[in-house]
Amino acid sequence: MAEDILDLQDHCVELLKERGVTLEEIADCARYLQADYHVDLTTDELLDSVRAVLSKREVQYAIMTGIALDKAAEEGKLDDSYLIELMMKDAPLFGADEVLAYGICNTYGSIALTNFGFIDKRKYGIIRRLNRAGKNTGKCNTFIDDIVGAVAAAAASRFAHRWTRDVEDDDDK
Ligand code: MG
Repeated sequence: MAEDILDLQDHCVELLKERGVTLEEIADCARYLQADYHVDLTTDELLDSVRAVLSKREVQYAIMTGIALDKAAEEGKLDDSYLIELMMKDAPLFGADEVLAYGICNTYGSIALTNFGFIDKRKYGIIRRLNRAGKNTGKCNTFIDDIVGAVAAAAASRFAHRWTRDVEDDDDK
């Protein structure tokens, strides 16, 4: 029962792991997004932000929904063969995967949204691997690549907001 899941954050970390994604790989994407502004930033420094994003209920529900849909398509368990076909080939105009990901970005403002668009285009790191592994291979990664991109984008945005706030606080002194 869902009520029995006391810690949905741990549940989501497990779901991501099952689908081949670690928090370190998401943090590396967030580091990539901040690399132009902070050249010495390490993946470890972004891990806190990734965990903070994953602690939000709205993000957890989006992760659970997206991964459940990917798994259902993969196992042929959706009651619509057209939808299964679209998801299995990761059809370019599908779009519902990106719309779900926007919900994750929205929790961290407009910087998260532009970060998401950027990393979705570049397909850096784990996002590229997921994307390639999910096209006509029998595996469905249609939702998870956008989920990972959005969590990384939100984590990078959180970092940027906090860093900017700290700098402005220093200027006030
Ligand atoms: Mg996708």
